[in-house]
This record gives sequence, C-alpha cells and structure tokens, in this order.
Amino acid sequence: MEEINFDKLRQLMVDNQIIARGIRDERVISAFYETPRHKFVPENIRQDSYEDCPLPIGNGQTISQPYIVALMTESLRLKPTDRVLEIGTGSGYQAAILSKLCSHVYTIERMEALQKKAEETFRGLGILNISTKVGDGTLGWEEFSPYDAIIVTAAADNIPEPLINELNESARLIIPVGAFFGQILTLLEKNKGKVSRVEICGCTFVPLVGKYGHKY
Ligand code: SAM
Repeated sequence: MEEINFDKLRQLMVDNQIIARGIRDERVISAFYETPRHKFVPENIRQDSYEDCPLPIGNGQTISQPYIVALMTESLRLKPTDRVLEIGTGSGYQAAILSKLCSHVYTIERMEALQKKAEETFRGLGILNISTKVGDGTLGWEEFSPYDAIIVTAAADNIPEPLINELNESARLIIPVGAFFGQILTLLEKNKGKVSRVEICGCTFVPLVGKYGHKY
C-alpha cells in the first residue's frame, strides 16, 4: 500500500482550512504546521487526520475540527510567558498546539483512558511543558492558578464560576456556551479585574460534564 504523506496533508490543512479562513497569527500558524495531528488520532482512522472535521477518539469523545482549534487558540492571544489551563484534554492535540505558544499548559480530562493516552503521545513527541490530571475540570486547578488564559474544549450551559476565579487580573477564557446540540464560542476577557464577554461564532462540542457543567 502507498505510504500516506502526512507532512503534505498537514500543509494543505493549514493552507486551505486555517489560513484561507482568516487565521492570521503567525505563531499560531507555525504551531499547526509543526504539530503532527495524525499522532493524536486513533490508528484505524489516521488517514483522515487532516480532514476538515472532528474525529472520534474513543470513549464517545472527539478531537475537534482543525479550524475550531485554530480559532480558539488565536482568540487567546498567547504570549510565550503565559500559563494556560485547558479543560478537556481529549486526544491532547489542542494542548500540544498551546504548548508551542506559551510557557506551560495544565490540562484536565475526566476520562482516565484518554488522559493516559494523551500523556503517552506527549512523551512520544518529547513535549515537556504540559501537566495533565484526571478530574472534573469545572472545579478548576487551584494549585497552579491564576492562569493567563483558560480554554474549555467541551460545551457548558454556563461558564463555571471556579474558572472565572482562576483567571489572572488580565486574562482570557474561551468556552462553547449553550444548548446540547449547538453552542456559541464565547470569549471572556478580564482586564484589571473587569470582565467583558464577546460571542465569536456558533459551534458544536461534546458536553462538559461536572459539578459546574452538565449533570450526568
Ligand atoms: N481538546 C481535545 C483535543 O484536542 O483532542 C478535544 C476535547 S473533546 C471535544 C472534549 C473532552 O472534554 C472530552 O475528552 C471529555 O471527556 C472532556 N470533558 C468533559 N467534561 C469534562 C470535565 N468536567 N473535566 C475534564 N474533562 C471533561
């Protein structure tokens, strides 16, 4: 069987799905060129890794569509010195992208099997600036707070209060907020303690399940 040229597919993904749709931040674009998405996708569907859609990663969960990962990442306007909290590690792909743009990523996943797999992938790729844990991310991760940015990659009906409290005095939080089958990607910005809110676009994510999320 002919070998798949993943490097070529990745370049096409970045050009056609990310740059062509308006992502402009050069650091974000480089992170996408450099991160092998196929390493985060289950082997049996690896050939689809660079398609323009979310993909199943097991346990009923998904790795998000590349453009949505890029849009969420760009909206955080990360600096190399920033420390970022992610809720919903999933495959680890979003965390790996973030790890190229900031000093440290803290990521929480409620499903142990996914957390273990993501840890393995980070190790395999030699990524050292990501800390993971299994738990309910709606409670935040107080030990390392406050954060310069927080990204929630599962859908909530409301923004979990503990996460707002773990933002730095000048920080950003991006989260899909809304009903079960459709949400609005929402950006909160804290500036000297004052919080503003911007709605970016519609999206569809798997539910955020936890004390301050969906209850099942
Ligand atoms: N960021 C992931 C990636 O790059 O592959 C995609 C995340 S997937 C769309 C959402 C993830 O959020 C799932 O793995 C799910 O188990 C996790 N999740 C849902 N509720 C959670 C919670 N309260 N705390 C931590 N993880 C949660």
